[in-house]
Amino acid sequence: MSAAKSPREVRPSVLNPLFASVTGLPGVGPKLGKLYDRLVAEPGREARLRDLIFHLPYQLVDRHASPYLASAKIGEIVTVPVIVEDHQPPARRGRGPYRVLCADDRGGDVMLVFFHAREEQLTKMLPIGQRRWISGKLEQWEGRLQMVHPDRMMDERAFAQMPSIEPVYPATDGLPSRAIARAARAALERVPDLEEWIEPTVLAREKFPAFSAALKALHQPNSLAALEPLAPARRRLAYDELLASQLALIMVRSRLREEAGGRALVGDGKIAARIRDALPYSLTSSQQQALQEINADLAQPKRMMRLLQGDVGSGKTIVGLLAMATAVEAGRQAAMMAPTEILARQHFERIAPLAETAGLKVALLTGRDRAAARAKTRAALAAGEIDIVVGTHALFQEDVEFRDLGLAVVDEQHRFGVHQRLLLGRKGEAVDVLVMTATPIPRTLVLTFFGDIELSVLKEKPAGRQPIDTRAVDLERLGDVVEAVGRAIRSGAQVYWVCPLVAESEELDVAAAEERFETLKQHFGDDVALLHGQMRASEKDEAMGRFSRGEAKILVATTVIEVGVDVPNASVMVIEHAERFGLAQLHQLRGRVGRGAARSTCLLLYKGPLGETAKSRLAIMRETDDGFRIAEEDLRLRGEGDLLGHRQSGMPGFRLARPDVDSDLLQMARDDAKLILARDAELSSARGSALRTLLYLFERDEAVQLMRAG
Ligand code: ADP
Ligand code: MG
Repeated sequence: MSAAKSPREVRPSVLNPLFASVTGLPGVGPKLGKLYDRLVAEPGREARLRDLIFHLPYQLVDRHASPYLASAKIGEIVTVPVIVEDHQPPARRGRGPYRVLCADDRGGDVMLVFFHAREEQLTKMLPIGQRRWISGKLEQWEGRLQMVHPDRMMDERAFAQMPSIEPVYPATDGLPSRAIARAARAALERVPDLEEWIEPTVLAREKFPAFSAALKALHQPNSLAALEPLAPARRRLAYDELLASQLALIMVRSRLREEAGGRALVGDGKIAARIRDALPYSLTSSQQQALQEINADLAQPKRMMRLLQGDVGSGKTIVGLLAMATAVEAGRQAAMMAPTEILARQHFERIAPLAETAGLKVALLTGRDRAAARAKTRAALAAGEIDIVVGTHALFQEDVEFRDLGLAVVDEQHRFGVHQRLLLGRKGEAVDVLVMTATPIPRTLVLTFFGDIELSVLKEKPAGRQPIDTRAVDLERLGDVVEAVGRAIRSGAQVYWVCPLVAESEELDVAAAEERFETLKQHFGDDVALLHGQMRASEKDEAMGRFSRGEAKILVATTVIEVGVDVPNASVMVIEHAERFGLAQLHQLRGRVGRGAARSTCLLLYKGPLGETAKSRLAIMRETDDGFRIAEEDLRLRGEGDLLGHRQSGMPGFRLARPDVDSDLLQMARDDAKLILARDAELSSARGSALRTLLYLFERDEAVQLMRAG
């Protein structure tokens, strides 16, 4: 029986405030709402308060004031009182930065620097002769102190109201940490009192605070210690998440065991053979083996749930396509889902010609399709006229129906969990699922986190790949780098130029990419394209399209290109401020080159002086290209220094629990979940009802539905 036909249990109303949209918070309109969707929600979902409160700060900025400039530390965020002395607009409009000279009581001075400045605004905020408090990163440039885009410029009153310790959140283009902090504060006030779901003995033993107190401790930390991985508040939330997932896992598994199994998908290999014949290369033995494993699973009359793990560039996409070919040979449809528009489009562009050579009908379905086009695709899917559909999460939407979906391939999954798997399963009868990921999760962890999942690993990269020549270069040698880039594009190469996002220094992120775009344009004119998250979707497509067609030679981008983009002709990767990136991120970024036959180069531009950890990171990047090794070193280097880490969990489907530090909690949650369900399989006791709230809170309620359906 399908779950949809049985009476649906509804979410406990006490959770309603947490499931309200973030756009209900003061100051969060529809435009910011969209950015929150991308930053904190699962792909394709609208961001709700629960998503926001699980988006935790990873660092603190100390804005305690220094009395004067000489007592402030260069290279750090400082807060100092100054007198505004002089405004120096750029000599020619639109060229160069706007500068404001300020001095302190002790004869020290500092230059405030603004790119793309609005003069009126600055003269209003910084009137000459007035005293202001400025807060931001203090730098030294050509022998004098400067602050580029101060985070704060305050009069006495504003300064008095500023909290001197400020949480720093993972942020994104257009949605700075500060705005997130404000929204999170408002969201915390709406967190209801929930019945405790953890046993009193466990609470006492682990020194866990209550759920709402734990949230408060993390969002309004009073010291760095509050954000440490072992801080009780963080552990409590991680345990909650793990307990919810373990309960759901056990419930789903016992349910699936009862259900009639899946359907056998047996192909004759003809379509796959035609696709393979059309490939300009032959499959690696890893790829062949993975395919054998997948096809063997598909042929079984039970549901496949398989993870295909392979480092960036190992060639997962073609494996996914050939698996889909088997499903089509067996007379059914297949879907491939990507986490972003850009990726979905790219997959489609690569897959369609190959599949069409083999006589298949392929379609693209994303959230951005026009209504008419979407209706047409939907109708064709429902009628079975489309064999393979590539898309974003839009594929999950209620109104999308398949005639007979046999296989769903989920690419580069980050946050997809059991939840999505069940949603996918509902799109058809006994849908097999293949998840592709570049995250190097050890097998044992995969098994404990996901239970019944099978694993295929692409161990080798396609032959003929040359190692990427990786170098660390001081940003002071920017001129040389620009020259080298010029030589590279004259020889026919294409170049990625990545600028980082800086959560602490809010206006700088996009400004930095735009600024770099402008300077490179002065050298290379129309050969340069720009891509960042604040651009309109159509502008992004245009930029990405020009680059992948080879019309643009240089793509200046923020980290939006991090995941999955594939332009084989691109052979140079420049990463500006490489010292600000984590190892995993650097590896992902570098993986964008080294895909074609040409020898590739990765230039890690850093700003000195480098700390020990940053130095080690860059050294490891130069030493190895092995994703697993890099992931290990990453864990080792993170140690105590890094707190929650920029990318929080690293475990797909989980946002609070971390595989590296929470293995004891995972074990605990597993044992507890087993015990709980052994005693109260229907969760009908008082504690059972609190646990049910927990399942809803962490969106593992599909499990509750399944239980009801039985
Ligand atoms: P990822 O595993 O990172 O998703 P892709 O599937 O994007 O990697 O593949 C990276 C590149 O390698 C693509 O340009 C693809 O065409 C190419 N490729 C895949 N398999 C092979 C192979 N066996 N031999 C040569 N090139 C391959
Ligand atoms: Mg990929």
